[in-house]
Amino acid sequence: MPQLSASQLKTSDGCLRQWAFKYLAELPAAAGAAAQLGKDCHTAWEGWLRAATPFVETAAVVARTTNTDPVGGLLHDLDWERDYVDRIVRVCTAGVRYLPPPMAPRVEVEGDFTFEDHGVQWRGYKDLVYQDAAVHVLHDHKTTSNLKWAKSAEVLRGDVQLNLYAQHEFSKHPALEQLEARWMYVTTGAQVSTRLVALTVQREQADHACADLAVRGKRLLELYDERPDPNLLPLPKDLSICRAYGGCPFEKVCLELPTGEEDPNELF
Ligand code: SF4
Repeated sequence: MPQLSASQLKTSDGCLRQWAFKYLAELPAAAGAAAQLGKDCHTAWEGWLRAATPFVETAAVVARTTNTDPVGGLLHDLDWERDYVDRIVRVCTAGVRYLPPPMAPRVEVEGDFTFEDHGVQWRGYKDLVYQDAAVHVLHDHKTTSNLKWAKSAEVLRGDVQLNLYAQHEFSKHPALEQLEARWMYVTTGAQVSTRLVALTVQREQADHACADLAVRGKRLLELYDERPDPNLLPLPKDLSICRAYGGCPFEKVCLELPTGEEDPNELF
C-alpha cells in the first residue's frame, strides 16, 4: 500500500490533477527558488540545533551546493552565492528566538516517521519536537515571502500537517493528552519579520481530524489502483492555484492550461 503524506493531501486538495502528475505519473517537479531557500534554511537550523553549528558555516556549504550544476558547474556568480549565504544567515538568525538552545536534552531534530492511522499508512518529516518545562512542543519552521501567508491558530487547527504530526506524537506517547503546536514563520525578503503561531492540540481533536484525513487519503489510494490519466481528472474550482507557489510545474503537460493572474504565495 502506498504511503501518503500531508503534502500529498494538500496538493490533491489544491488540484487533483497536479497530485496525479506528481504522485501517479511521477513527473519530475524541480523545486523553485523559494522552496530551495526554505530547504536550505531548514538545513542551517538543523545544524544549529543538533551541534550549535554557526549558520554561516552551514549556509556556505548549502549555498555552494545550490549554486552548482553537476554538469555545468556554477549556476550563478560568486556575488550571488555571497548574497545567498547572507540571506540564509539573516532568516535563520531571526528564527532563533523561537527555538530551544542548541544541543539541549530531550530535543528531537529533523526526524522522518511512518505510521498507520485509521487504516492509512502515512509518512512525514518533523522539524523539531521538545519539552519546554511541562509542555510537549511540536515545532515547525516555515519560510515565506510575506507574513500575510502565515496561518492563524484557527486555520492551523484544521491543518493537515499539524493534525497528522500531532497524531503521530500522541501515538508515540500514550500518556500524552495534549501538546502545543508552535508554527514559526520567518520572511525571506530584505527586511526579515517573524511570527510564532501557537495552539494547544488535544489528543481527541487530532484523532477526530485524522479520521477525516483518512477518508480523503483512502480516495487517493483508490486512484493509485485506478491509475487514471491525470488530464482526465477534474480541474480545480479555483484556477489561481495554477499560479500559486511560483506556478504549477505541470502547466506544459496539463491540456487545459488556465490563464492565471495570481501572484505566488511561497510557504515552505
Ligand atoms: S496547470 Fe493548473 S489545472 Fe493543470 S495540473 Fe497544474 S494546477 Fe492543476
